[in-house]
Amino acid sequence: MTDLKLFNSLTRSLETFQPIHPGEARVYSCGPTVYNYQHVGNMRAYVFADTLGRVLSFKGYDLRHVINITDVGHLTSDADAGDDKMEKAAASQGKSAWDIARHYQSVFEEDLARLNIRKPQHPRATDYVEAMIAWGKAIEDKHCYRLDSGLYFDVTTVPDYGRLARASTDEGESRIDTVEGKRHAADFAIWRTTPAGENRQMEWDSPWGRGAPGWHIECSVMSAELLGHPFDIHTGGIDHREIHHPNEIAQNQAHACGPDTGARIWMHNNFLVDRRKSGDLGKMSKSTGDFLTLQALVDRGYHPLAYRLLCLQAHYRSELEFTWDGLTAALTRLKRMVMAIAKLKADLAASKQPEGSFPLSEQERGAFDEAISSDLNTPEVLTTVEAILSNKKMPAAKRIQSVRLADDLLGLDLLGLTREDLRLNPVDAAIDVAGIERLIAQRQEARAAKDFSTSDAIRDALAAQGVEVMDGDPLGWEWKL
Ligand code: AMP
Ligand code: ZN
Repeated sequence: MTDLKLFNSLTRSLETFQPIHPGEARVYSCGPTVYNYQHVGNMRAYVFADTLGRVLSFKGYDLRHVINITDVGHLTSDADAGDDKMEKAAASQGKSAWDIARHYQSVFEEDLARLNIRKPQHPRATDYVEAMIAWGKAIEDKHCYRLDSGLYFDVTTVPDYGRLARASTDEGESRIDTVEGKRHAADFAIWRTTPAGENRQMEWDSPWGRGAPGWHIECSVMSAELLGHPFDIHTGGIDHREIHHPNEIAQNQAHACGPDTGARIWMHNNFLVDRRKSGDLGKMSKSTGDFLTLQALVDRGYHPLAYRLLCLQAHYRSELEFTWDGLTAALTRLKRMVMAIAKLKADLAASKQPEGSFPLSEQERGAFDEAISSDLNTPEVLTTVEAILSNKKMPAAKRIQSVRLADDLLGLDLLGLTREDLRLNPVDAAIDVAGIERLIAQRQEARAAKDFSTSDAIRDALAAQGVEVMDGDPLGWEWKL
């Protein structure tokens, strides 16, 4: 197998993956803050993390993957200013913070499953508060100071604070809001003491008074508890490269009393950018209110795996633009692959030869390895699959085996999906999808028989229902309202 090269944001270079524990790969991904739905931009981060996990499994490593659930500690600003996200959501929805967390966690888990994301470990931050307090006590004397509002980390006590952030921008500290009394703008809370007279739903006793942990400490503690420090790879969206991950690294160094940054490789996916309307709407984000959930795509009729394909078509370090036309194109591409595979399955059945009678050669098995080993080049894996699907010289059995192999990496369920699964199927009950497709099938038969008057009549009947058949589509199945 080819060496696996991954881009490390910390060194700004491609590095060969070498596991810390032989035969094992340990990965930690920053997970959702469960005060609201995750939008499809957030889900891009988990498709990326899942792809990384699939590649490590493909390479033969025994994978341990953690995606934590942030159910406490995250303020509306990443830098300890603003309101507590969980408490604010609880107040505005008239529910307890605990109920809010359980609800959004379960929706998140459903979305992971719908995107074929392999089940990670997903521990909740609130189950690790004791360990966070112990960590705070261990680093307090040398690295922290107290204010009425809590225990703060002094970023000048560790070497080269913010190296990760400076890799991407020199703005650094100017983006960080200030808290009264902090020594340096970039200092951050390890513990937030509940102000006198204020009531919090989620709070614990600590040496620094009753209160709640800061957000950054949870990822240091949970990754150490579940994977041990140092571990192999830490992932997150590129926004985390600026504040959250530099702060994790600082805490890890303080705790290790040395240069150990906790994880050896830090990887970041770029943003999903919202281009549904013209002009630059910027990264998809919850603060604009106008964000899309996976359910919103499903309601419009799209199969969730069309969104997974949309993500895989772009390299994870490139921005990805979201438009409805782009999603439709991804759905069509997926449908094309699925229909080509259906044909191969039929050919194989007709040949009466079992799939295994044409084992793949080493070279054929390696076709995807090179692409994926080059910093997870999923766009290239996709074009390689398509080339194999249309390679008439290769026996159907081999082509199906190649697809099976590629799909371990892609997670698109290429051998399980059918064209019917991928029908554009909007929830709007006024649209009779099956009826429309029946007419399209009749029209295709008429066209095949060169009965153009029938085929035109059917097209007109569909147009009367507001359905436009897209004849440019070589599969002949595309239509839109
Ligand atoms: P949050 O729930 O806000 O803590 O974010 C969960 C994950 O989604 C983090 O890894 C973020 O970095 C990532 N993320 C947030 N917005 C986007 C976006 N528009 N595109 C890609 N990833 C994002
Ligand atoms: Zn984190």
